Order: sequence, then structure tokens, then C-alpha cells
Amino acid sequence: MSKPSSILQVAVPGPFSGPLDYLPPSGDGPGPLAGARVRVPLGSRREVGVITGLSESSDHPRKRLRPAIEILDQRPLLDAPTLGLAQWAARYYHHPIGEVLAGCLPTSLRRGQWPSAPSVSAWRINDDIPEEQCARQVQRSPRQAQVLARVTACGGAATIGDLQDLDGDWRGAIRHLVDKALLEPISEFEAATYPTEAPELNDEQHAAVTAICAALDKHAVFLLDGITGSGKTEVYLAALQATLRAGRQALVLVPEIGLTPQLVQRFRQRLGTRLAVMHSGLSDGDRARAWLAARDGTADVVIGTRSALFTPLARPGLLIVDEEHDLSFKQQDGFRYHARDLAVVRAHQLGVPLVLGSATPSLESRHNAQQRRYRHLQLNRRAGTAKPPAVHLLDLRGQPLQAGLSPELIRQMHRHLNDDGQVLLFLNRRGYAPVLLCHDCGGIAECSRCDARLTYHRAASRLRCHHCGYERPVDTRCGDCGSTTLQSVGQGTEQLESMLQTLFPEHAVSRIDRDTTRRQGAMEALLDDAHSGRSRILLGTQMLAKGHDLPDVSLVGILDCDQGLFGADFRATERMAQLIVQVSGRAGRAERAGEVLLQTHHPEHPLLVRLLRDGYRAFADDALKERQLMGLPPCGHLALLRAEAPTAGPPRAFLEQARGLGVGLAGPGLSLLGPVPAPMERRAGRFRAQLLVQCGDRPTMQRFLFRLRPGLADLPLARKVRWSLDVDPQDML
Ligand code: ADP
Ligand code: ZN
Ligand code: ZN
Repeated sequence: MSKPSSILQVAVPGPFSGPLDYLPPSGDGPGPLAGARVRVPLGSRREVGVITGLSESSDHPRKRLRPAIEILDQRPLLDAPTLGLAQWAARYYHHPIGEVLAGCLPTSLRRGQWPSAPSVSAWRINDDIPEEQCARQVQRSPRQAQVLARVTACGGAATIGDLQDLDGDWRGAIRHLVDKALLEPISEFEAATYPTEAPELNDEQHAAVTAICAALDKHAVFLLDGITGSGKTEVYLAALQATLRAGRQALVLVPEIGLTPQLVQRFRQRLGTRLAVMHSGLSDGDRARAWLAARDGTADVVIGTRSALFTPLARPGLLIVDEEHDLSFKQQDGFRYHARDLAVVRAHQLGVPLVLGSATPSLESRHNAQQRRYRHLQLNRRAGTAKPPAVHLLDLRGQPLQAGLSPELIRQMHRHLNDDGQVLLFLNRRGYAPVLLCHDCGGIAECSRCDARLTYHRAASRLRCHHCGYERPVDTRCGDCGSTTLQSVGQGTEQLESMLQTLFPEHAVSRIDRDTTRRQGAMEALLDDAHSGRSRILLGTQMLAKGHDLPDVSLVGILDCDQGLFGADFRATERMAQLIVQVSGRAGRAERAGEVLLQTHHPEHPLLVRLLRDGYRAFADDALKERQLMGLPPCGHLALLRAEAPTAGPPRAFLEQARGLGVGLAGPGLSLLGPVPAPMERRAGRFRAQLLVQCGDRPTMQRFLFRLRPGLADLPLARKVRWSLDVDPQDML
């Protein structure tokens, strides 16, 4: 126990480089503890911070320290491992610890409150009441008996989803049962039901599960590198079951668009356990309750998106990151952490295994597997009876196109549709057309706030900027010459949809992109149409690329895979290859043999040829060699200092000053590149520039950043620009 006179180190939200020192609050009350929330004065405001440590001394004279107002937690809200992870992340990403901690906590907890009472969405049979008494009490109400029978059949606890197909007023029956104390209301993640049966694992799956389970009480990182449809999810489920049998909890991270109700349902039913879901779409109360359930051990499995990584676990046993290559694991603003990379740190700290799964592992993870830092588990065959699809290139050169569709693709679509197959078309551009052009003067409608063109949305009759959200009604006249002969150039998903309705009037078409799925539930409805087979042609952007099991899709068409070949970012080809493989994985998931057609103007492009002839792994090895030569990640390390302001001068000048500071601190093996304007210099009315730091090894990079970071805030222009430091940036925009 620390002496009450210790000085509190408190992480307070704000741009402070470390925790701030306070005296303990006067009066009785719980003793100060690391991980507890505390209300403190800050200037003229009051803030809630988290105690990160206690100390006997301060850099400031004791009489200048202010006392904290109130310790809010009798027992620390954050356990030591979670606090340790946040501290590690704050150091590594050079981000204020107060902001990091604020980011890991649900809002109500961050504000010093507790979530309100749980929303009831499940019920459990009260075990204290003997069965005969139960039966007697519902004798005269068949409806109550029916509900009770269903809850029993579900394993003694049931969620709304388990009950909603019952006839009549089952909610009323539940109310009566709760009044009689035969049922207890519980929150959804408390509901544990009997697990449903798993399929017999094949040899590769079995070997993977055995390897993971052998490591269940130690630290190890596994790269589960399995082609699409090879049954990676079944491997996770088996490893999760073993973890649960050992009385431990597990955390599963999935990409933002992968966390579908279908996925949650599959986990809930198979595991038959108390499962908490964590994503940004939850109400804060639900999020806070799930967070606390994980911390207190009343939920056994947490499944969530990026920020769920920071959920405390009472009995940690296993971490899983599915689709580990996915870009959504990296936060792109504020605290720019990578949840996959931090999962490695967390698994190490907790001494538990981590499984990173993907059909298209990131080059980072592949590199780590080759260096034997990760154990490489491979699934090379599709599970069940499905066969891998046949992939072909379609040469677009000289072909007449209809909304981007080549005659051969149209012909193949007819063939597959006539054979009762479903067709999935992929075009990574929403809207009707990416350009609106004046036929008389060549003028193009551009965003006034970005270096970007406005996208034409025909149904809405609007021009929209996809970078800043600006929009306006479609021009009737050219802004430059007044001509009325405006025409659209290029095509987006909206145009493709209307062309498909013309070309295939007898088949229903579903379009899935950000525009058609904005409304809550719209995505589920569209996917339902696809699952039930009502819609035969699906088209969409990369939202459609993964996560969805559509067994009847027999043909996948990628309309334009040339974008990725010539991208500005050095990761563009990696992303293109991942996308092609993931989209192709949508074909032939069940009994049907699948076919994939890639339209390109560059059928001889060496990367495309390599990918199609030799597969993703061969492609990845080539790409890794190239990164090695260039000293780029994962064979080198990057940090990006960004700056932006309403005019172009200050960001450049600030970065010049930063460069001057950095040159004095940089040792051998570290280079500073720039400053240069960002690839899209102006966005949302702000001019952006960047300075790139490149270094062969991580410790040298970190030492440099530690020395650079404090000086940045003191640069003369630091207050004239908005600046940020991005360690391990995932995109160069
Ligand atoms: P992935 O996660 O690798 O894409 P899934 O685990 O979703 O693959 O499996 C793909 C499909 O194959 C699913 O429908 C799943 O139920 C089925 N499946 C997986 N493993 C087996 C198995 N061992 N036997 C039969 N079917 C399986
Ligand atoms: Zn014009
Ligand atoms: Zn814009």
C-alpha cells in the first residue's frame, strides 16, 4: 500500500506529453490506486483522468501541486495489463497518454460515470425454483409454458432473437414469467446457450487447431494463412472452444465491415457462451456494459472492431485478429494506432497466443512468418466440397464497352445466369460517373475545397465530393463557358446498375455501396436478397469484397483492376492483389465451380501475371523483395509527420523547421524525405504537406522520434498549423 501522501500521476485528456502530478484528495475515501479514475482540476475546469502511477516526488515543488478532487473508483477501473498496454501504445505512437486512455474507454466511463442499468434483451431460467414448481406455475398458461420450453431448449437462457419467431404475445408471457420469478432478465451477452455442432475438421484445420491449442497457456503468434473458404473461421471456433473449456476468455477482432449479424450469430450459436459485441455503432451504454462484462469476466468472448483491442479481460486466454491485412485495423486520425500490431504487444504482455488470420496476409505478417517470429499455419484447400475458382484476364484494349462491361463479360454473365448461378460484379467507384465534362470547353466540375473532381450522382441529381463531403445540385451550364452540353465520363456503380437493368431485364440487381447502405438495416436487406437468391446480380464496391458467404455466386467480374497497378502509394499493388484475391474468393463457395474474370488494359502487367499464374504467396514474395531493395516496410520503418493549414505556406514552413530540428538529431541510417505536398494537396479547404522519416531499424527510429517529438510543439509555427505524427503510416495520403 502506498502512503496517502504519495503524489498522483494522472493521465488527463489533452495535449500533455505525460501524466500530470496532483496531490491526493483531502479527506477520507478510497486510497489512490493505479488504474482508478480521478476527478482533477485543470485550469478552471474539472476533468476526469486515470491514475497511471504514484510517486514520492515531482518535478514541481510540492506546494504548487493542486489536490485532486475525488477518487472515483474503489477498485481500479483499468487493470494493470490494460493500463500497461495503453502506456506502451502512448510511447510507441508518441501520442498523449491521456488521449490514449480516453480513447480506450467508453464515453460514460471516460466522463466518470457508470453506465445505466442494462438493457434487457435476454432471459435466464431461475435455477433456484424446482422444476415441478415451475411446471405447476405455468400449468394454466400454454403461452408461458411455450416460452419456458423454448428458453429451456436454448440451454437455459435465450435472447430476443431466439424467441421472436414464437406465436402470439410472447413478450407478455415473459413479463408474467419474470413477475413469478421463473425467469430472470439478463443482458444479451450474459446469455449462454448450448453450442451447436461443428463440422468435422479436415487435416489442415486439425493441424492448425492442434498447434494453437498446444500454446494455450503461453505466448505465441500464429499466422493462419488460409485461402478463402479454407475454413479459417472453423479453426478460430475450435481454438475458442478449447480456450473456454480451460475457463479462459478470448478477444476476436474483425474488420469494420466484417462484423455482421450473421457472423455474431455464427459465433454465438457455435460457442454457446456469453458473448459481448463491441463496435462503434453501439450506444454508449451498451458499449460500456459490454466493456465491464469483459473486465469482470461475465462475458467469455468479446468480438469487436479495432478499438475492442483495449477491452480489459479478467481471464485472458486467446486473441484472434481476423483478416489481419485489413486497413480498418489502423486508426487514421487522432491516436493513429494499428490494432493488429498492438494485438501482438498485448498477447506478449498477457502471455497468451495470438492468431492472425487472412487469405491475403499483409506483407508485414508474411515477413514476420518468414523470419520465424510468427508460426506459419497454412490452409491450402477449400473446406467441404468447394473448389477454387478459375481466374482469367479479359483484355479490354479496343473492346466496345457498355458502362465498363466488355462483350465477353456480358456473354459469360448470360451463361452463368442461365445456369442459375449468381453474378457478382466489383467496381470500386460509387456514384454515376467520376467526371462531369463540358463538351464545348473541356471544363470539369471540381470541388472548390479539394484537389478533386466532383462525382456525378444521377438519381440524387447532385455533384458530390467523395473526399470532403461537399455537394451541390448538378450544374445545368458549364461554370466556365456557359454551355449546356455537359456529359459524364467514366462510370461508377450507379451507372453500372442501370446498365445491368437494361442488359438483363429479367434478373434482379442489388447494388451494395456506401450510397445504398447508408440507412440502418439497408445492408442486411440487400444481403438477404442475395442470400435468398431473389437478386441474381450483385454489384458493389469493396464493401462487397469480404465477409459475406454467398454460396450461389458462380461468376465474379472485376471491372477495373488497373487502378491499383499505377497507384501513388507504394502499397497500392499489395492492396490490389489482396482485393483481387478476396473478391475472387466470393466465387464458388459451395458446390458450384466458380469463375473469375478480371478486366484490364494491361494483361501483360508482370504483377497481374504473377498473381494469376502463381498465386498470392508468390506475388507477396516478389513484393517483399522489392520492399527490401527500397528499404520500405516491413523491411524498413516509416513515420510520417503531417501538417495542414488553410494556406499552403505554413505547413511547408513548419515541416522545414521540423526537418531542421530532425537533421540535428538524426544519426546514421535515418533519412528525412521532404517536405512535399500530400498527393492530394488540398482537401476540405486545407493545404497539406508531409515529411517522411525512413529508417532501417525500429529502435533507431524510436530513439529519433523520442528526441524529435518534444521539440515539435515548440517550433515557431507549431501553433499556426494542425500537425500530427503517424508511426507506421498505412497510407501516404
Ligand atoms: P474462411 O473463414 O476461411 O473463409 P469458413 O470457416 O467460413 O472459411 O468456411 C467456409 C465454409 O466452409 C463455411 O460454410 C463453413 O461452414 C464450411 N466449412 C469449414 N470447415 C469445414 C469442414 N471441416 N467441413 C465442412 N465444411 C466446412
Ligand atoms: Zn464549358
Ligand atoms: Zn471536396
